[in-house]
Amino acid sequence: MTIAALDVSQYRLPLDPPLTDATHGAMTIFELIVVDIRTEDGAMGSGYTYTAGRAGGAIRSLIEDDFKPLLIGADAGRIEALWQRLWHAVHYVGRGGPVSFAQAAVDVALWDLKARRAGLPLWRLLGGHDPEVACYAGGIDLQDPIEELLARTERRIEDGFRAIKMKVGRPNVHEDVERVGAMRNLLGDGFPLMVDANMGWRAGEAVQAARLLRPFDLVWLEEPVAPDDFPAHRRVRDVGIPIAAGENLHTLAEFQALLAAGGADFPEPDLATCGGITVWRKVAALAEAYGLPVTSHGVHDLHVHVLAAAANASYLEIHGFGLEQFIAHPLEMRDGKAVASDRPGHGVVFDRERLGAFAI
Ligand SMILES: [Mg+2]
Repeated sequence: MTIAALDVSQYRLPLDPPLTDATHGAMTIFELIVVDIRTEDGAMGSGYTYTAGRAGGAIRSLIEDDFKPLLIGADAGRIEALWQRLWHAVHYVGRGGPVSFAQAAVDVALWDLKARRAGLPLWRLLGGHDPEVACYAGGIDLQDPIEELLARTERRIEDGFRAIKMKVGRPNVHEDVERVGAMRNLLGDGFPLMVDANMGWRAGEAVQAARLLRPFDLVWLEEPVAPDDFPAHRRVRDVGIPIAAGENLHTLAEFQALLAAGGADFPEPDLATCGGITVWRKVAALAEAYGLPVTSHGVHDLHVHVLAAAANASYLEIHGFGLEQFIAHPLEMRDGKAVASDRPGHGVVFDRERLGAFAI
């Protein structure tokens, strides 16, 4: 299983219309970085990560210039050893940030290769708990007028979604209350509804917002404050509203600190940005040890596998970046649940020709 070749590609995919949240404002570009690994005996694996439009070049360079020489000639089956090798090789500039994104793309490729070689779908290789995973439609819609927000939600319910997430963090919190109230009114009592503030508030503002939003019976309030202000997460949680957090944490140690502070009910690691499947599984096990579920952020075609393998799986986020137009077999949904595929590996096959138009 000696690694013979590694190729990395970078694409800048336009987002039309732009997506909006409280941190990024309007996002117009989705960057995709794809890694292909081949072993001497011809086995293949692919992995990928993404950005909200910037720093993709740094991630690509880390993989091409720093990781590739450490991987060529290595045993592809020793995924944990290779993860540690890469982590320590660049630790002085790493321990998170772009390094965690770069490691994630490599790690996913190695897991894909291992599963394809075994002839197993990833979710079975990783433990095989339940291929049907509860999911929600993650709206990126902070600036959308209420009428548009509600019309899109109606379409999503028609498409089969049984849970919805919307953005909050408007300049005046009472606008958020009005929008969430309109959404609850549309969905009716008991329909799972999450809201996501994308770190839009300081602690005091978040506490006030949580008090105002509590009557709407939310599944969770996501990222109310800066991602590494763990005591503030705890303050907001103490209002009596469940907290989801983690899409801006990029190491296992950060998740440990968040959970030790009592800062989250729904840890939300993104395997494409926290070091890969190897780290995501450790966060899931950590959450389980704290008696908590684990959820996901982004790359739903990959997360469906790790959630389908986890005993403490919570909701899968179905994100709105439109990647399905470049994928041969977009994620399947059945009765409001996402279904992990039975194709070997993660089963995500990109249309390289179509993507090629956006290569840089
Ligand atoms: Mg979020």
